[in-house]
Amino acid sequence: MAESPKAYTLVHTNIESLSVFELLNHTPNGNFIDQRDFQDISVISLELDAGVFTKITAIGFPEVVVSQVGSAIVSSCGCGHAHVMFCEHQAEIIYGILERKDYRIFFDKTLRYKTLLAQAKRYGLENEPHLDSYFQVIHREGKLRIETRIKELLPMDDQLLTKNLIPGRLSVLEKLKEKVVLKKPILVIARHRYYQQLNFLLMEADRTKVGKVKNPITNIDPVKLVWKADDPEEIKFYTALMRFQQTYDEDHTAAELEALKRIVKNPLDLEVYYHDRAISETVTAKSLLPIELEVLKAEIRLRVLKKEPFYEVTGELQFNDASLPFQDMVIRHNYFVYHHQVFYFVDHPDTLRVMKFFKSNNETLLVHASKYDEFFQTVLAPLEELLHVDYSYIHVATPIQLAERTFRWNLSYIYSKKVVTYRLHR
Ligand SMILES: [Zn+2]
Repeated sequence: MAESPKAYTLVHTNIESLSVFELLNHTPNGNFIDQRDFQDISVISLELDAGVFTKITAIGFPEVVVSQVGSAIVSSCGCGHAHVMFCEHQAEIIYGILERKDYRIFFDKTLRYKTLLAQAKRYGLENEPHLDSYFQVIHREGKLRIETRIKELLPMDDQLLTKNLIPGRLSVLEKLKEKVVLKKPILVIARHRYYQQLNFLLMEADRTKVGKVKNPITNIDPVKLVWKADDPEEIKFYTALMRFQQTYDEDHTAAELEALKRIVKNPLDLEVYYHDRAISETVTAKSLLPIELEVLKAEIRLRVLKKEPFYEVTGELQFNDASLPFQDMVIRHNYFVYHHQVFYFVDHPDTLRVMKFFKSNNETLLVHASKYDEFFQTVLAPLEELLHVDYSYIHVATPIQLAERTFRWNLSYIYSKKVVTYRLHR
């Protein structure tokens, strides 16, 4: 808004401090005071400290420019008056600016700050000294608007934030509902769908009132969970599951054994089920058998009996409180001994090999007496490192065993002698 050469300047004042009486002193007549039709003053353009106004109802009302420059009010009018004072149009418009808050705010700093402060509080900017740098007043379509100069400025308005930013909070009822339908994941030992290969599935299902798994039972992809897991054991567990879900891998490598160890650890303490394919091809509540998953902590005991003309070797698993003869032992999925709804993971490959050897030989080894020495030297003696062999006959010992046993025999000889002595003295 270039300053008109025909402008009249009122020095040492501004709109904020200008009084109507002062305005009167700078106009040829006081007619404007009676007008008071401020609503008829319209804006052609308006910005901070400068505006172009006219009156819409009065025909031929000129355009009046009003601006504040330093400590002076400068105004020009389109009527072409003598410029020694404000003309009546200027007086009317300036009076209107003084009276109408939506115009005055562009010129009156105090009024503007008071108004902007209310807005600034929404943004936490109430203590900022230069609110004009953050907000601007705008007159558009006859209305005053206050806008932020920085588009990204975020109002800390409670309602707005909770509606748009804060994650939706569930009502108590909804939370309760969520708890009821909460599906607990389960671990399912199964066979691979296309191969005979062992597979582990992570699944989820609802429970009946008595806690039984209920249909439908859906699959959970461990890949999705592994990204969310923080606990190293949990990550290892999911990774191990993923290994078994991959396509068939012919060799039972050390990696597979390692993966099994991680799964059997069951770090999430999941309920474990065995999927019985004989009942249903797909995993259903009916075809799931609840089982325990444990590491085998039993000792293998072999027994050698002389049954002329053979030596018979049989074996059993010795648990803390029970024993399981090899003929009753069930090996499932290559790695597990299944007994009384427990899957015992055989974590030692050599132990597993012995068990499998006996299973594949009708659980009993019959060795002819003529071959027994050789069998003992090549098979039984080395196995003694791994398992307990119970010889209920006298055999020819290896030189090392002989040395060990000579010592033991001496002890037992002394003992029997004492018993004999005792008996004699009675
Ligand atoms: Zn005029």
